[in-house]
Amino acid sequence: MEQYALPIANLIEQLSKLPGIGRKTAQRLAFFILEMDTLEVEQLSKAIINAKEKISLCSICYNLTDMDPCHICEDSKRDKSIICVVEGAKDIIAMERTREFKGQYHVLHGVISPMDNVGPNDIRVRELLNRLSSGEVKEVILATNPTVEGEATALYLSKLIKPLGVRVTRIAHGIPVGGDLEYFDEVTLSKAMENRREL
Ligand SMILES: [Zn+2]
Repeated sequence: MEQYALPIANLIEQLSKLPGIGRKTAQRLAFFILEMDTLEVEQLSKAIINAKEKISLCSICYNLTDMDPCHICEDSKRDKSIICVVEGAKDIIAMERTREFKGQYHVLHGVISPMDNVGPNDIRVRELLNRLSSGEVKEVILATNPTVEGEATALYLSKLIKPLGVRVTRIAHGIPVGGDLEYFDEVTLSKAMENRREL
């Protein structure tokens, strides 16, 4: 066991809770932070707290936003008849980078995964169905990741949505199975949207 002064051990422990940060990296970051100017450290910690305080979920699409509704839902130039359903808010950033999709989004905040005890009620499924009840939406594009859970969630949603008379499509498999939307380049994502198929 490493013999760190308690505040350092505590900082390492907090940093290692972040995704992709193992113990080694957490140690490296902790020592880096201790070498930083006090002002810089204050700015870093304030940025974290500020983001957490100012950002909430859009009451329409559940995107992360500092205004409600978010700037996408608020944009009158965007097509309200088409909703692209994604797993996480990061996926909206990826989609927006393609500059081709001009509809609305819906963020599920997860996928159905019985192994992890995540059911339909744990993600924003009901909220999506509520949005479809107005009859304004003509197509739902299911853009969950091409993983086992992502596919299962897409299938589950299509079974719920199709009886409502809404066209349901799934992004194409130009994207590698097991991949993560946020890491695809714009061309791959554009193609996947363009070649979407009926479900
Ligand atoms: Zn929104």
